[in-house]
Amino acid sequence: MKIFKGVSASPGITIGKVFLYLDDNLKVPKYTIDEDKLVSELERFHIAAGKVGDDLKKIQAQASKEEITEESRFLDSHIMMLTDPEFIRQIEENLSFFKKNIEWVLLFTVRQFIRTLRKAGSPYLVERSVDLYDVTRRIHRHLMFHEKISLADISEEVVIATHNLMPSDTVNMNRKMVKAIVMNAGGRTSHTAILARSFEIPAVLGLTNITDEASSGDTIIVDGNSGTVILKPDSEVLTEYQNKSKRWQQHSVQLNKLNRLPAETLDGKRVALSSNIEMPDELELVLQHEADGIGLFRSEFLFLRPSGFSSEDDQYEAYSSVVLGMKDHGGVTIRTLDVGGDKIIPDFDTFQEKNPLLGWRAIRFCLHHKDIFKIQMRALLRASVHGELRIMFPMISCLEELEDALAFLEETKSELRSEGIPFDEKIPIGMMIEVPSAAIISDILAEKVDFFSIGTNDLVQYTVAVDRGNENIAYLYKSFHPGVLRLIKMIIENAHKAGIPVAMCGEMAGDTLATVVLLGLGLDTFSMSSIDLTSVKEIIRSVNLNEAEELARRVMEMSSSGEIDKYVRAWMNERFENISV
Ligand code: PEP
Ligand code: MG
Repeated sequence: MKIFKGVSASPGITIGKVFLYLDDNLKVPKYTIDEDKLVSELERFHIAAGKVGDDLKKIQAQASKEEITEESRFLDSHIMMLTDPEFIRQIEENLSFFKKNIEWVLLFTVRQFIRTLRKAGSPYLVERSVDLYDVTRRIHRHLMFHEKISLADISEEVVIATHNLMPSDTVNMNRKMVKAIVMNAGGRTSHTAILARSFEIPAVLGLTNITDEASSGDTIIVDGNSGTVILKPDSEVLTEYQNKSKRWQQHSVQLNKLNRLPAETLDGKRVALSSNIEMPDELELVLQHEADGIGLFRSEFLFLRPSGFSSEDDQYEAYSSVVLGMKDHGGVTIRTLDVGGDKIIPDFDTFQEKNPLLGWRAIRFCLHHKDIFKIQMRALLRASVHGELRIMFPMISCLEELEDALAFLEETKSELRSEGIPFDEKIPIGMMIEVPSAAIISDILAEKVDFFSIGTNDLVQYTVAVDRGNENIAYLYKSFHPGVLRLIKMIIENAHKAGIPVAMCGEMAGDTLATVVLLGLGLDTFSMSSIDLTSVKEIIRSVNLNEAEELARRVMEMSSSGEIDKYVRAWMNERFENISV
C-alpha cells in the first residue's frame, strides 16, 4: 500500500482500477533544411495544422452535441491558436532564421511562448501553456504520422492516472467510464481541475510521481476531499474507504437537495451564497446550483486571448449574455480588468517589472491605459440595461485611486448620455478590498461605494508578505493569520457602520473551515466556485448565528494561525461528520 498527498482539486471519494495514461513522449527530430525547401517545409506545417483544426472541430461538434460546454470552450482557444497570426509569424521567423525542420521549429516557438508565460508567473497563464503543448503534440503527430491511444476507447470504469491530461484528451474521454483523475501535475486552477469539478468526479492533482508507482489495473482510492490517493490499499483501509465512500454518496444526495433552500442559519440569519465565474458559459452551473447571483465575474478572459483584447461590442455581448442569464437570479458583479501582477498579458512590454505583484496592476494599469479602460467601461454600462449589473474595481489601495476610477466612470456615463446610449443610471459600484491599506481605511472608502468585496487571495498575500504562487513559502500563506482576521473584521465593521454590504470572493469564501468564523464576523455574501456552494450552505444551515459569533469571538482572542486552525478544526469536526476540514 502506498499513500500520496496532493492538491484536492475536485471533491468526492472513488475506489477503482487504475488506467495508466502515459504521454507518448514523441521524439522531435532536428535537421537542416535547404534554403529552397523552406517554403515547402512551412507548407507541411500548414497542412498538419489544417488537419488538426479539422480534428478539433469534429471533437467540438461532438462535444456540443453532448452539450459539453466546458470542453468546447477549451477547444475554441485551441482552434484560435492554430490561426493566431502572431504564433504563425513567429514560426515563419524561426523557420527562416534557423533553417531547421518544421517539427523542431514548432517546438522551439512554442517553448519561446511558454517561457514568456512562465516568466509572467501567473497560474492562469501557465495553465494556458497546457493548451499550447496540446496543440503542438497534435500537430507533431500529424507531421510524424503518429497515432495515440484515445481516452474515447475506455470501455470499463477506471481512474485515470497520468502526468498531465491535455484539454483535448478530456474532450475525447469516455466520461461515463472515468470515475476519477489523479495526476503528477496540475493545481486547483488547471483545466483538469475545472473539468473534474464540472463532471463532478473526484480529482487529486500535483502528485509528482503517481505515474511512476501506479500500473494499469491496480486498485486505487481517490479521496478528492482530503487530497489523498492510496494505491493498492490493504483490506482494512479498503473497508474503511468503502464505508467513507458510501457515506459521501448519501451525503452528496442530501447536499444537492440544498440547492433549492436558502443559506440561512438555524435561527434565521440569511446570507447570500454567490458564484465566481471566469467565462460566460459557466452560467449553467451557477443556475443549476441556484446561486444568489454572481459575486465575481473575472473579466480577464476577454483580454488574455491569443487574438488580443476584445472590442467594445464583443465585451458588450459577453457581459450582456451573463446579465440576461442572471436576471431574477441575483444579478452579476463584474470586476474591471485585473491584469498585471500574476496575470500578465503576454508581450505587453510595460510589464518588465522587478516586483510585478507590487507593480502596475489592475486599477493602476487601467487608470493609466484609459483607452482600454474606456472601452470596458462603455461596454459594462451599455450591458447594464439588461438586468442587474454591478461594477467592481480591483486592487484599490488609496482614496485617490478610487476617486479617479469613480470620476472616470462618471465621465463615461456623461459620454453615453450625450450619445443617447441608455444604461442603468443607478448601477451599483463596488470595490475589492485586497490590499491591507484599503482594509485599514475601509471606513473612509465605505463612504464612496455601494459594496465591498474582500479578495482574500491577494489580501492574505499582501498582509503576510507571501507571494501566493511561491511554493517554498506556501506554509506561511495563512487565511487564519490573526492579522488577516483582524483586517476582515475591521472591513466588515466599517462597511456595516456606513450601511453597505460586504462580500468575500477570494478562495477563503468557499473554504468550509472558514465558513462559521466568517458568518460570526458578519460577512453578508460568500462568493465561490459553484461546486462549493452546497457544502458551505450545509454548514450555514446547521449552526445558530450566536454560536458562530461566539466562535468568531474566541478565535479573535487567539495569537496564531496554528492555534486558530486547530481550534476551528476541532469545533467543526465535532459537528460535521462528513466535512473534511
Ligand atoms: C482575490 O484576490 O481574492 C481575488 C478574488 O482576485 P484574484 O484571485 O482574481 O486575484
Ligand atoms: Mg485579487
